[in-house]
Amino acid sequence: MKIYFATKNPHKVKEVSMIAPKGIELMPLPPSIPDAPEKGSSFLENALFKALWYMEHLGQAVVADDSGLEIDYLEGFPGINSSRFMQGRDYREKMEVILRMLEGAPSRSARFVCQAVFVSPDGTVLGANGVVEGRIAQSIRGDKGFGYDPIFVPEGHDKTFGELGESVKSQISHRSRAFRELFRMMEIVLQLKGRE
Ligand code: IMP
Repeated sequence: MKIYFATKNPHKVKEVSMIAPKGIELMPLPPSIPDAPEKGSSFLENALFKALWYMEHLGQAVVADDSGLEIDYLEGFPGINSSRFMQGRDYREKMEVILRMLEGAPSRSARFVCQAVFVSPDGTVLGANGVVEGRIAQSIRGDKGFGYDPIFVPEGHDKTFGELGESVKSQISHRSRAFRELFRMMEIVLQLKGRE
């Protein structure tokens, strides 16, 4: 089954395609589609808004996700505002600001969170959540991945996602955990529908 992944971020498509089961092939969005507004107040609301928006525009089933970085010392910031924080500035600047905000912090614990959803025109709606716990590094390290990867050290590792790269990330990331679960659900539902 070919299915659109409601994102224009090629890193996300690659990361999730690496763990997609044989029967599911992810396609990037056609570039001409207008961007979905991100106006929800939770990862779940944003993921559903995106999925429904692109399903309406494409007339087909889609998977979508909404994700972000939560830093405990900053009370969950940037959270659902991870992409909008200092919008228009590059990620090196954003990460430098975050590192300054954490100077002297007693704890650097943080997590990446991902809410993945599947919606189809027949009314099926499935959702799964994934989390990877970790901490914010003392400095920006590595140039792999995207976004805040170079300052996030996942639990059980000493290197940042920016140093570890896609093969590790596709095993343990918030997104891979959420999509593994979502794909399991999709396979069950698609099998049941095939029997109808
Ligand atoms: P969205 O899920 O496309 O709305 O993006 C949320 C934002 O969270 C991204 O633009 C990044 O700033 C951040 N983010 C989400 N997932 C990751 C990740 O795997 N690595 C680094 N940054 C991420």
